Amino acid sequence: MRSRYSAYFTKNVDYLFKTQHPKYRKLNMRQQITEAAKTKNWAGLTILDRKKGQARDKTGVVEFVALYRVGDALSQLRERSRFQKEGDQWFYLDGDLLPPYQPKRGEPCWCKSGKKFKHCHGKK
Ligand SMILES: [Zn+2]
Repeated sequence: MRSRYSAYFTKNVDYLFKTQHPKYRKLNMRQQITEAAKTKNWAGLTILDRKKGQARDKTGVVEFVALYRVGDALSQLRERSRFQKEGDQWFYLDGDLLPPYQPKRGEPCWCKSGKKFKHCHGKK
């Protein structure tokens, strides 16, 4: 999971394609990955939850918030990703997009500005 994030960060499309489970590779997937890597500049990763995914497991689920910039605008992607291990290699299967992460009252903003959410991206 972290290695895939690093690959997005460094725009390593080959690695992203290789670690996508062959059964879950869709038509045009390499192109989609290339587009996502090219247009978004990834700026941070926070793991919110993980289930299994340890050395002895065959499957894993990771929920995360990844920050990215398109131009000057900072946005977040929250996803629950499913992974499967074959041999020693973890593969990404697919993921569900979740609603944006909302910090609780008084907590710092998800953009890591250091401001409270209500004074930053939570401003009405
Ligand atoms: Zn913010």
